[in-house]
Amino acid sequence: MGQARCIQIKKEDNVAVATRDIQAGTEVFPGLTTKQDIPQAHKITLRDISRGEAILRYGVVLGYARDFIPEGSLVSEHMLSLPEPPGLDSLTFGAQIAVNLPDPPVMSWEGYEVSGEAYGGTRNILGIHTTVQCVAGVLNAAVDKIRREILPRYPAVDGVVPVNHAYGCGVAIHAPEAIVPIRALQNLVKHPNFGGIIMAVGLGCEKLTADRLLPPDANKPENLILLQEQKGFGQMVAAICAMAERKLALLNQRKRSALPLSKLMIGFQCGGSDAFSGITANPAAGYASDMLVKGGATVLFSEVTEVRDGVHLLAQRCVSEEVGKKLIREMAWYDRYLQEGSVDRSANPTPGNKKGGLANIVEKAMGSIAKSGTAPIIDVLAPAERPRRVGLHFAATPASDFVCGPCQLASGIGIQVFMTGRGTPYGLASIPVVKVCSRNELKEQWPDLIDVNAGPVITGEASIADIGLLLFREIIETASGRKKSFAEAYGLYNDLCIFNPAPIT
Ligand code: CA
Repeated sequence: MGQARCIQIKKEDNVAVATRDIQAGTEVFPGLTTKQDIPQAHKITLRDISRGEAILRYGVVLGYARDFIPEGSLVSEHMLSLPEPPGLDSLTFGAQIAVNLPDPPVMSWEGYEVSGEAYGGTRNILGIHTTVQCVAGVLNAAVDKIRREILPRYPAVDGVVPVNHAYGCGVAIHAPEAIVPIRALQNLVKHPNFGGIIMAVGLGCEKLTADRLLPPDANKPENLILLQEQKGFGQMVAAICAMAERKLALLNQRKRSALPLSKLMIGFQCGGSDAFSGITANPAAGYASDMLVKGGATVLFSEVTEVRDGVHLLAQRCVSEEVGKKLIREMAWYDRYLQEGSVDRSANPTPGNKKGGLANIVEKAMGSIAKSGTAPIIDVLAPAERPRRVGLHFAATPASDFVCGPCQLASGIGIQVFMTGRGTPYGLASIPVVKVCSRNELKEQWPDLIDVNAGPVITGEASIADIGLLLFREIIETASGRKKSFAEAYGLYNDLCIFNPAPIT
């Protein structure tokens, strides 16, 4: 791409993206001079665009010009009207099944095998599950004590995580959509990083009872403490600490071993995207994803509102009509969910996305989809469902970073790879989050928060394949415990925001 001032993606595009701030009167392409200042990452018209004409980027209609826009002008959000989303009734499935995926440089990693589980753990963690938010205060106090006084005696254990959440009581537990938060919490109990060792704390009068949360064979007194059965705060903390110590002794025996890539599950999402995300970080992530899939790993990508405008492209990559129908089911569910709130997908882009040059959800979606690479979509998961086969999955989740994260975590991912243009210190407590930024300026601003910089793709110093390979290696090193991501090293993590589309009572 060289040191171009602007990047035009497809030759039919009538807009390009500024790679840096450009002053008015600058010749950006031969014969094309800017009529006004163009901030970095924003779009510039490559020719006159008449009123009602389609504005094309990625060869895709981002929207229609509300008015005449002269060549060399800035294109911003209010100048476009949003096109209709692709219909769900006439999609074709399986028309584009990629066969030539890039070979991964290694076929194995070092993880913790879990008996009876298809995927290995990337960390060795005591997860203390909860049936209800009411217990969070007591559990947090106990966990502070466990970390200070008990954990140091079990050096093979990486940490203790209280799995606190806002669900459990004051909820319509029989509402049809309650399946989503309940499934998420049930599947978190089975997360490979917790090693099949089960410990839960409940209150005693909540709606999400232990028999709903835990697998039937695990619902027994040796795994469960109910606070209403304890005599006062002191005894609650003592009981939690004593149970934690027994569990830590078991976890301390876990050891890493060489595992095939088929036992690795990685999640991808983006957050705080800008107009470069779709040119650098997300395609590089897509390249790494293709390598993982080629090596037999399982990869999840998500964020329904951010793929909705490209659903026809995803449909072509679905391996069968059965999988395609699941894709439609999830899209239709989300269309309805938004409709009931009197909004549509146009509610997605944030003020930061717009400052980063993203005019609307179509432009954001085209960039977002790039992180799924080119591999066939082997299956589609409902929110927080666990995969049943290896390969690339579309895992339906909200796009909100701190809601998508827990959904993918519940599906069982061992690492989340997170692409960002604007920057966010987002993290998860139970797995490493590896951050990839879309431009050099963010890496310079946040050198100690961004793990991989895809910015050199803009300046022509690296190719998408170069950064993709770098990211693949970073994933393997981090999954194998030989490296910590910045968020993990600093202990940065967000609250576990479980997606609950059902009513609160
Ligand atoms: Ca997101």
